[in-house]
Amino acid sequence: MPEPPLRIAVIGGGIGGLTTAVALRQAGFEVDVYEQALELTEVGGGINMAPNATRVLRTLGLGAGLDREGVRPLGTHQRRWQDGRTLQRAPLNPQCEELYGAPHMTIHRAALLAVIASAFQADRVHLDHRLVGLADKGDSTEVWFENGAHIMVDVLVGADGIHSTVRTALFGEEEPAFAGCVAYRGLVPAERISGLGLELGSQSWVGPGGHFVHYFVSRGRLLNFVGWTEHDRWNREDWTDRATVARALAAFEDWHKQIRTIIAAAETCFIWALFDRDPLPRWSVGRTTLLGDACHPMYPFMGQGAAMAIEDGAALAACLRAIRNPADALLHYERLRQPRVTRLQQMSRANKTRFHLPDGPGQAARDAEWADVGDRSPDALRWLYEFDPAAVTPILA
Ligand SMILES: Cc1cc2nc3c(=O)[nH]c(=O)nc-3n(C[C@H](O)[C@H](O)[C@H](O)COP(=O)(O)OP(=O)(O)OC[C@H]3O[C@@H](n4cnc5c(N)ncnc54)[C@H](O)[C@@H]3O)c2cc1C
Repeated sequence: MPEPPLRIAVIGGGIGGLTTAVALRQAGFEVDVYEQALELTEVGGGINMAPNATRVLRTLGLGAGLDREGVRPLGTHQRRWQDGRTLQRAPLNPQCEELYGAPHMTIHRAALLAVIASAFQADRVHLDHRLVGLADKGDSTEVWFENGAHIMVDVLVGADGIHSTVRTALFGEEEPAFAGCVAYRGLVPAERISGLGLELGSQSWVGPGGHFVHYFVSRGRLLNFVGWTEHDRWNREDWTDRATVARALAAFEDWHKQIRTIIAAAETCFIWALFDRDPLPRWSVGRTTLLGDACHPMYPFMGQGAAMAIEDGAALAACLRAIRNPADALLHYERLRQPRVTRLQQMSRANKTRFHLPDGPGQAARDAEWADVGDRSPDALRWLYEFDPAAVTPILA
């Protein structure tokens, strides 16, 4: 008699958790998602989905939703903070589709989450369920929620973000560290900045102690911006409550007119503090594992945090399908994923320094290096973009 499918609980209904739920369901498992919030939401405006992520989402049948909601930027344009000089350009579309079989996209976060959620049974997403405890029972795991509910499952997946309770339950308390950066984030209706004549693409402005990124979302109707500045300390009272357009303008006071025009066209903006953790040596204990920001948060300076969570979901589903013993499958999954996400964590950290160099010889050397390389083909990131996370390759000792 065939064995019944594994019952799997995914904790967290963010981009990582929902993608994983879709991938696990399509692999034949019985899956439920438990989310603490009263509705599925995403904080912030836009997000980049590089071809490694859009390919996974397309494989899960989400291509039409992405095409409906997303934008295919023509390229990225790296510019100098004050004089606007071009430091480097990189074409993205249609080259990414030709090279990697999937486009690079920019999309509103809420729209992305809705597209992913549309592929999963709504009555198996349990809102208002905040995990507060778990106990390993050998062949199953018991889970408790703040609302008094409790469940028994065969496999538990913690996709509950950087402040993960599942991670704390497995590996102990360890506060994430403030990364020394805050972001001013906002959305601007495209018609308000039509005078800038922006092409449908991304621009990234690098300057002393900060950088500023903007790209279109919502089929080009909105321009999303994120302006990063460095600070020694963070406290919520000083920042979140005083997030105003005027304050964002003051933070980018001497920067190029285009940046100031974009900020000034926003009705509101909010401030986001960046937190970080060091790479975690283990992700799994028995039949419980982690994914996404719960186990490998990264600075967003490679635009790959959510992409890695999406890849994790595809890899986890493939490992659980290929390897009969769930605990062995989770171990294989974590070993497959760790080298790749650690590399991206390190590259993202290095980009903070590289993007924020003060005016002077270091910055001039960086700019000269970019100029020497010339326009960057998306082929330069082949190792990143063509990767298939669902390939359950053997682990080399
Ligand atoms: C400014 C900025 C820009 C970025 N840009 C990009 C980009 O361009 N491209 C990219 O790929 N990545 C980007 N990232 C990174 C990306 O946003 C994150 O890596 C990604 O959203 C993490 O997804 P996740 O599902 O792992 O976690 P989260 O999105 O944090 O989701 C966790 C979910 O778990 C829920 N939860 C938490 N605790 C519990 C509990 N105890 N019980 C039940 N539910 C719980 C939460 O409510 C939430 O819904 C950016 C990040 C920032 C800050």
